[in-house]
Amino acid sequence: MITAHLTDAEIQLYVAEPEMINDQLKIHIQDCANCQTSVANYQLLFNSIRDQAKPQFDFDLSTLVLEQLPEPKPAFPWAAILVSGFSVLLIALSAILFWPFIATVIRRTPMVLPVSAITAAVVILIFQALEMVKNHQKQIHTLLDAKTLQL
Ligand SMILES: [Zn+2]
Repeated sequence: MITAHLTDAEIQLYVAEPEMINDQLKIHIQDCANCQTSVANYQLLFNSIRDQAKPQFDFDLSTLVLEQLPEPKPAFPWAAILVSGFSVLLIALSAILFWPFIATVIRRTPMVLPVSAITAAVVILIFQALEMVKNHQKQIHTLLDAKTLQL
């Protein structure tokens, strides 16, 4: 048996979550009047905190806060448009410059290569779609769990 009295933190843990405290401390509480008094005080305190009415505002706090927030400025994606335009220009320029070579490659290539490339692309697309759906479901579950914890 432990002879020293329990600390405030241990007594609070005993009151809030008795399964989290070890058996020696429980035995001490059962035999010690001093610690039993502390436990009773904390139980009274916890119960009164739990039973207190939740504070309610007579105004809508969310609208007051939203009014004070700055308006988000819709940023025009100049960088993305610039990079996209440059990429399209580069691809078009290469196609025009190397068209004779590309046409020769297309004519001499057996049909197996494009078909296998398309098949590989379709398989990759299917796996990516499955991954996206799986991620989406995981995020929805996380959101629902978080919402359940708040209620
Ligand atoms: Zn004690």
